[in-house]
Amino acid sequence: MKAVTYQGIRNVVVKEVDDPKLEKSDDIVVRITSTAICGSDIHLIHGMIPNMPTDFIIGHEPMGIVEEVGPEVTKVKKGDRVIIPFNIACGECFYCKNQLESQCDHANPHGDAGAYFGYSETFGGYAGGQAEFLRVPYGNFTPFRVPDDCELEDEKILFLADIIPTAYWGVDTAGVKPGDTVIVLGCGPVGLLTQKFAWLKGAKRVIAVDYIQYRLELAKKVNQVEVVDFTTEDNIGNHLKEMTHGGADVVIDCVGMDGKRTFLETVETALKLQGGAMGAIVIASQAVRKGGTIQLVGVYGMRYNAFPLGDLFARNITLKMGQAPVIHYMPHLYSMIQRGEFDPTDIITHRLPLEQAKHAYEIFDAKKDGCIKVVLKL
Ligand code: NAD
Ligand code: ZN
Repeated sequence: MKAVTYQGIRNVVVKEVDDPKLEKSDDIVVRITSTAICGSDIHLIHGMIPNMPTDFIIGHEPMGIVEEVGPEVTKVKKGDRVIIPFNIACGECFYCKNQLESQCDHANPHGDAGAYFGYSETFGGYAGGQAEFLRVPYGNFTPFRVPDDCELEDEKILFLADIIPTAYWGVDTAGVKPGDTVIVLGCGPVGLLTQKFAWLKGAKRVIAVDYIQYRLELAKKVNQVEVVDFTTEDNIGNHLKEMTHGGADVVIDCVGMDGKRTFLETVETALKLQGGAMGAIVIASQAVRKGGTIQLVGVYGMRYNAFPLGDLFARNITLKMGQAPVIHYMPHLYSMIQRGEFDPTDIITHRLPLEQAKHAYEIFDAKKDGCIKVVLKL
């Protein structure tokens, strides 16, 4: 089959590889019909996630049709339409039973963390879903079966695999409530969906921050948020604090290790302009009100010495973070989409065949050609 493979920093290649097979009696194999590229994939191709072997198949936002099921699988059958969440989870352990599937105790044989498709040996070593076929472990728990009466096209529901529940989880667990002021750092796919959910939770003010003009413009256009370009202010944290009369109730970081720059540039810019990695947490620590909450949805893959712990402590800030446990949110969010209450398709800027994945990664990484979210079609 064809698959998108990691070949070193900023180098992905679509290659012919062996088809996946059922390995355990509760595995399924899915024929992929649509699969998206995520900001988290950009961290991978920047070499910021350890233990990425050459030829590793990447991708964790796929959906498709069940091709084969192991003898113990009862949840789905051949021919069912399924969305595959980025979390791989057993459904039986303490964490799966307590709505933290992103920390499943059984799925990751390599470490004390959860397991994710296409996300390095450290996070389980499972081949990813930017491919014609995908082996899905725990077929009785991991996949979301799309109801038979669903007439929605793939792109309306594809992001249930990751960024829709991730954005929802970020807003939900940050405790956003009616009347709140919410600042969302980042107007990439995750930031844009987070802004939508902040409104749906009843926020009275949503302020979006970025520095890429076409992304700020889209945020304003599709989400009716106030936008701030963080490069136009000397002290963006204080500027946001003034705008919000003492700070926002909730600041949500949807940046992570900024995808546009190299790591060294990111560190340098963090010090100068407060962009990227450390920049976002510094901005957040200044822009949140006393007693407020900072939610780190953006992914951080290493230790950071300049972390403003004292500032957060002095002002009673609650800090939340982590890989989103997406599985248990999928049914509720699917129903919202089915009822027409949520539509994520206005963030899609590119629909390309899987064969053009290299080009897709280039434009999403460099943030050019107006690229925001790419869906690869098979
Ligand atoms: P993206 O790279 O397209 O978007 C990030 C945006 O942040 C960019 O537009 C960039 O210009 C902007 N930015 C950079 N520095 C900034 C700063 N200091 N302040 C404000 N904006 C800044 O990526 P994406 O697909 O939207 O993903 C965003 C983050 O969410 C990534 O780190 C990704 O790994 C993470 N993510 C986390 C989870 C989870 O489970 N926690 C799930 C999916 C994605
Ligand atoms: Zn993702």
